[in-house]
Amino acid sequence: MAIDPNFDQNRERVGEEDGVAVWGPVEPPEKLGIHGTHVAVDYDICLADGACLENCPVDVFTWVDTPDHPVSELKVEPTNEDQCIDCMLCVDICPVDAIDVDASRQA
Ligand code: SF4
Repeated sequence: MAIDPNFDQNRERVGEEDGVAVWGPVEPPEKLGIHGTHVAVDYDICLADGACLENCPVDVFTWVDTPDHPVSELKVEPTNEDQCIDCMLCVDICPVDAIDVDASRQA
């Protein structure tokens, strides 16, 4: 299952973490929702592969701990999503399609 590219219409914005919007449902530790708006990461799909974080040319991502999440205990937060240059590298490289980038969605 890939991230829903229409999450901003299909989900409710329930809060903010590290300055990044969080889209529900959120029921920790099992369900953590989607983090980010312009650059969005589905935390419930992310398996902490790290290719996005290592290869993003403008260092959008940072690691965060997600203890007891069933998929992985680390996730990438799009902390610097306002710096994204829409190269789409992270979208293409993610092995589980957990990331969506859309310039029309602004944080
Ligand atoms: S689209 Fe490119 S610049 Fe934007 S977060 Fe992904 S890798 Fe970084």
